[in-house]
Amino acid sequence: MKGKMKKRKSEAVEAERDPDKNQELKDLVIKFCRDRGVDLLGFAPVKRWDEANEVPSEFRPQAIWSPAKTVIVMGLAMPLPIVETTPSVVHMELYKTANQELDQLAYDLTRYLNRLGYASFFFPRDGFGSMKALRENNKAAFSHVMAAKYAGLGTIGASHCLLTPEFGPRVRFVSVFTATELPPDPVIGKELCIKCEACAKCCPKKAIRMRQDRVIGDYDSMACLEMAEELTARRCYPCGICTKVCPVGKDRFLYGQKGAVKKYLREAEALEVNPQDPEYKAWTHLRKYGVFHGKKAPDKE
Ligand code: SF4
Ligand code: SF4
Repeated sequence: MKGKMKKRKSEAVEAERDPDKNQELKDLVIKFCRDRGVDLLGFAPVKRWDEANEVPSEFRPQAIWSPAKTVIVMGLAMPLPIVETTPSVVHMELYKTANQELDQLAYDLTRYLNRLGYASFFFPRDGFGSMKALRENNKAAFSHVMAAKYAGLGTIGASHCLLTPEFGPRVRFVSVFTATELPPDPVIGKELCIKCEACAKCCPKKAIRMRQDRVIGDYDSMACLEMAEELTARRCYPCGICTKVCPVGKDRFLYGQKGAVKKYLREAEALEVNPQDPEYKAWTHLRKYGVFHGKKAPDKE
C-alpha cells in the first residue's frame, strides 16, 4: 500500500512536468464526471483570478487553499418546467437535491484525485449556514459563479447569475481545487446576456437594476435576501425568478419554451387580477401545496 502511494506521488510530480500526463489526468476527470451525470464541466487555472482581478484577493482559490493550481467546476442543470413553478415546494426540493448531489460529486472527485496522488480540496455548494448568518455577512467565502466563468462555462448576466449556452442560468455549480495544473478550458469571450431586462422587470423585490454602461446590473443583495427570508419562513426558498425568466439557454428548445418570456412578464399582474388565471393554472396549483401561506411558518414540528 505504502509503495503504491509513493508511486502515485511520483506520478503526480511527473504530471506537473509532462503536459501529456496532465491531459491524461484531465481525461480521467472528464470520464469520472461524465459517468456520474455531470451536465457541465470546466477547468480554470487559478492565475485567471489574478489576471482578471475582479475578485478580492482573500476570495481567490490560492488564498483559500494555497497549493491550488486548477479549479474544476461541475454543473448540474435545473429543469426549466420545475424552475417555472417557483416559489413552490417542488422547486425547493429540486434546489436541495441539486445542492446535495453537487456536494457529493465534489466530495467524490476530491477523494478520487487524492487516491490518484493529486492533492485536492473542495468548497461546498452553499457556503452559508442560515439566513441569519447571511444577514450578518451576505457573502460566501468563495464564488462558484466566478469559478464557472473562469472555467469557460458561461458569462455573467445582468442578474449576476452565470448564463450558460446550454441552460442559461438554470444550472448550479460546485468547485474542486487541485494542486495540479490541468489543461485549461477557454473562457467564453462573447457576452451571453442580451440585456432583455426580463430579470429586472420580473424581480418581485426590484433587486436588479439594468445599467447602460455594462452588462452586469446593479444588484441589491439585501432586497434579494429579504425575499429569501420570506420564502424560508413559508418553506419554499429559494426565489430564483430571475433564473426562470432568462431567455438564454438551449434548454428552452428542449421544452419548446423559446417564447415564454411574454408569459412571465404578464404573470404577476395577471395573477393579481385573477389568481385562477388559466394560463398559470399548473404553477398556481403546485404553489398551493406543501408550503405555508401565512407570513411566518410555525416552528418546525
Ligand atoms: S432571486 Fe428573486 S428576489 Fe433575488 S434577484 Fe432574483 S428575482 Fe430578485
Ligand atoms: S433575463 Fe435578460 S437581461 Fe436578465 S440576465 Fe437574462 S438575458 Fe440578461
